[in-house]
Formats: sequence, structure tokens, C-alpha cells
Amino acid sequence: MALLEVKNLKVHFEIEDGWVKAVDGVSFTINSGETMGLVGESGCGKTTVAYAITQLLPTNGYIKGGKIFFKGRDLLKLSMRPDGRLDDYNEKIREIRWTEISMIFQGAMNAFNPVFKVGDQIIEAITLHKDVSDDEARERVKELFEFVGITPDRIDNYPHEFSGGMKQRAMIALALALNPSFVIADEPTTALDVITQDRILAEMLRLQEQLKMAMMIITHDVSVVAEVSDKIGVMYAGLMMEVGETTQVFKNTAHPYTAGLLGSFPSIKGKKKRLISIPGFPPDLVKPPSGCPFHPRCQYARQACQEGRPKGVEVELGHISYCHYAKELWDELRRRE
Ligand code: SF4
Repeated sequence: MALLEVKNLKVHFEIEDGWVKAVDGVSFTINSGETMGLVGESGCGKTTVAYAITQLLPTNGYIKGGKIFFKGRDLLKLSMRPDGRLDDYNEKIREIRWTEISMIFQGAMNAFNPVFKVGDQIIEAITLHKDVSDDEARERVKELFEFVGITPDRIDNYPHEFSGGMKQRAMIALALALNPSFVIADEPTTALDVITQDRILAEMLRLQEQLKMAMMIITHDVSVVAEVSDKIGVMYAGLMMEVGETTQVFKNTAHPYTAGLLGSFPSIKGKKKRLISIPGFPPDLVKPPSGCPFHPRCQYARQACQEGRPKGVEVELGHISYCHYAKELWDELRRRE
């Protein structure tokens, strides 16, 4: 049984102009101890997927379909109201959130309250969820600091006394405070310089291996997922375009959008190639294009692409492309190599 199974998840936001179909039918699984990278351009729905899993959607967010199973439990059943909104104060979800599933939020650099000591903020998170004394929680924070590479005597520092890399490590410590089996990291290294980014990623991998937890790393940077993920999901316009093991998606790309995304990132290994950007812009999700949402930007688009939404095609074991012509394109892209 997969640790997390997301099935045909649909999350729409109500705004003045109508409904934003932020996530419109996304499926994937993550096994225990596995790391999945969720990639795609900004606004493609990656963070919305994370907020649906952790049940932290804003009040204008509605679940319009699908299921989220965690350790076999149907999470949406626990907290979904009849209108599709989530009750984020639901007791059963609060028991799971942070203790079983935790999250390193986007913009972690500013996530700590500047007027409280970093250590106290983590102590509070522990004592809110666990029946332990402040002293016990303080010892746990020192342990966590050591674990993530911060000297424990920094426990009484304020956020402004930490560097960017240290704040990020402290955020990781906060996410690990209650030994969750699944951690979602939303753009965990975006605001960091490349050297610190590399160190933090290495640290996250070390912790993940040591703690045997599963992770989902959300990023627009494919080089990050290439480095740390066992599998990759590529999203576009609220839909999954391609999902598979990292080596499958990188070496045997089977979707035009993934090919475009990979072609627009430089590689320091292998032959030098001209970088090619994907023409056009992501669509307005209030009025997404008919059929395959990538068709206005896809060089392979044909009439059928405007008519029906592509179903998943398994091009090799566990490697799925949501393209009408996945098999043909798979051959075509292989011929070009
Ligand atoms: Fe391109 Fe059509 Fe495939 Fe969509 S379904 S990616 S438009 S070829």
C-alpha cells in the first residue's frame, strides 16, 4: 500500500471572475521512504496540491472531486464539509497534520515570527501537539538543532540573528519536530544562494535517509528534483503531464511539455545545447483551453488535442504521459537523441 495516494484530485478557487481550476484531476502515489519532486511553472497548481494534502486551503478553496489516502485513511472524508470546503480545525486532521504529515512552507525565510526566539517557536509547536513539559520540548529542540546542523546554543536566538541557510535549517527542524512519516517541502531552497542550496539539499537527503521518511519536494527548478527525487511529477495548468521515476522522465521524456521544461534548463554535464524556451504563456485557469491545456503552446498539437483531455498512457513500467500521442512522441524524441 502506498503511503500517500492522490486520486483525480480537483481543487477550485472561487474568485470574483468565476472559478479558478487550480488543480483539475491530479493523481499520483508516494511510497514510504520515497522522495517525489513535483515540478512545473509558477501557478500550475503544485502548492495547491500540497495545501489540499495538509488541509490548509484558503477559505475560497473547494474540493471539487477526488480522494487523498494517507496510510489507507481517506483524509478528505475526515474533514470535508458538504460544500467541498475543508474544516482545517477538524480534530482528526489536527492529529495527523504536523505529527504525521508536516510541511516546510514556501518563503520559510520569513516564516518565523521576528519577535519570538526561534527555539521557543519550535517548543510551542511541540507542546501544542505532544504531552511534554517545556523542558523536555527544549531538549528536543536542541537535539533537532544538532541534527540539522545548528549548534544547540543558538536556541535562544531571534530569527534576525540567523543567516538564510540557518533559518531554512530551523524550518526543517520545525518540520521534523514530531517525527512525521511524510514531509512536504515547498520551494525549500528557492531564496538561497547556490552553495547554501546545495548544502540544504544534501542535508535534507541525509535526514530523509536517516529517518526513513517520505518527502514531496515542490519546485520550479528541475535541477533540484534531479538531485534529490526518486520520482517526478510534472504539472501544467492544474493537471499532471507526466509522472515516473526520475531517470525515466529525464532520459526517456514522453511529454512535449516536459521536453520543453528540460530544454530550457542549462546542464553543466554532457554536450552543450542551445537552451530553448517554451513559447507563449501558461493559460488563464478561469477559462483553461479545451482538450489538452498545453495545446496552444505545443509544437506537436493536432486537432484532437483541442477536443479531448488526454488520458494517461503508460509508456514504460510506472512511467505515464498524459498526451494523446505519447507513444509516437516517445519514439520521435528517442530518434532525435
Ligand atoms: Fe501536445 Fe496534443 Fe500531446 Fe497535448 S495532447 S501535449 S497538445 S501533442
